Amino acid sequence: MKIWQTQLHDAEATVALGEQLSKACEQACVIYLEGDLGAGKTTLTRGFIQGKGHQGKVKSPTYTLVEPYQLAQWQVNHFDLYRLADPEELEFIGIRDYFTEDCLCLVEWPEKGRGFLPEADLMVELAYLGEQRSAQISAYTEAGRTILERLDKHEV
Ligand code: ADP
Ligand code: MG
Repeated sequence: MKIWQTQLHDAEATVALGEQLSKACEQACVIYLEGDLGAGKTTLTRGFIQGKGHQGKVKSPTYTLVEPYQLAQWQVNHFDLYRLADPEELEFIGIRDYFTEDCLCLVEWPEKGRGFLPEADLMVELAYLGEQRSAQISAYTEAGRTILERLDKHEV
């Protein structure tokens, strides 16, 4: 499976998709999140991080660029590169240390870090659909395809 699509009727549905996606992720992976401001990237990430066991808040790391969550089995790293002026700045925050074997990484505004980020296993594209949202998830690697298969078969 290379592409998976769904319609998200409300914010709860966006959270639920993030949670399902987190349950389907059983290996280190890099997920890019694309979509306009307000499309639901942070909302989906909140579901993902809570799905992996985080109980507290999840807020957008707009000024810090990254927020790491050390959870039971995984470290989940949530990036928001919206305010990144120059992709080279990623070198200063030690970007490579965040993309390791025991990390699941979600990146909002990945295009701002082009050239300094690893390739994505999955890309989630969120778009406005009237008041609602649509989601399309594409797989770019074998790991990404495995995750999509699990999501599609509702094995999660
Ligand atoms: P982004 O990170 O893409 O800028 P956010 O997740 O911060 O977007 O904000 C999205 C806004 O849209 C929030 O107010 C959220 O409650 C709302 N929202 C998220 N998903 C949906 C949906 N499927 N339908 C309607 N509203 C949604
Ligand atoms: Mg956001």
